[in-house]
Amino acid sequence: MKGLIIFIIILPVLIFLIFRKRKPKADTSILPQNFRDLLNAHVAFYRQLNDADKLRFENRIKEFLSHVRIHAVHTEVDELDKLLLASSAIIPVFNFDWHYYNLTDVLIYAGTFNSEEFSVTAKERNVLGMVGSGAMQRMMILSKPALLQGFENENSVNNTGIHEFVHLLDNADGAADGIPEQLLNKQYTIPWIKYMNEEITKMKEGNSDINIYGVTSQAEFFAVASEYFFGAPELFQRNHPELFGLMEKIFHVQ
Ligand SMILES: [Zn+2]
Repeated sequence: MKGLIIFIIILPVLIFLIFRKRKPKADTSILPQNFRDLLNAHVAFYRQLNDADKLRFENRIKEFLSHVRIHAVHTEVDELDKLLLASSAIIPVFNFDWHYYNLTDVLIYAGTFNSEEFSVTAKERNVLGMVGSGAMQRMMILSKPALLQGFENENSVNNTGIHEFVHLLDNADGAADGIPEQLLNKQYTIPWIKYMNEEITKMKEGNSDINIYGVTSQAEFFAVASEYFFGAPELFQRNHPELFGLMEKIFHVQ
């Protein structure tokens, strides 16, 4: 049974690799000519950067796309999809040096997928995205509509791509616990845990505007709060000043 499950998991990757050989090899590190227009039109975070930072952002996404393999499963992945995936990866780490060494492959699906087929750390909401473990280590699975939806509206507090990449940041220290030890100075760990737990209590009481999925665990809380932090920072700062201040430290926002 386990062998069959592993086979089901790697089948799309094998199909992709075989299929790719028949076509001229495309260099994913090369962005399409209109990539600046696409980023300006679809990525609010990029749009509000100054010219020097835009260039820095572009270099980061190029670097990301040259290291991560993207596999389309029962769907097509176009240039915009790749740019949005890379933007989801770079937005949380834009202010510091970070390489997603714990990620080699991203599988993009047409819709939701059955989490039972995969070995994952945790079941995600409607399974729009997940980060693999075990046989699926170093893999991320994302629903294409969910990826696109995260960038559809300015000030959106939901962004599945950012959510999954924040899990990778959290997991980098070996524990999916909502505490990114490599990013958060030790002196802020206790306040961070305190404010996280206070907010989770408020969420359970119905007194918070943070996505209720965050009550699942501290790891999920950190992921949904990050979606909000990057999607609507001003609103997040107004409604959650303590969390905002600590997340500025986590994400090295000046
Ligand atoms: Zn999650």
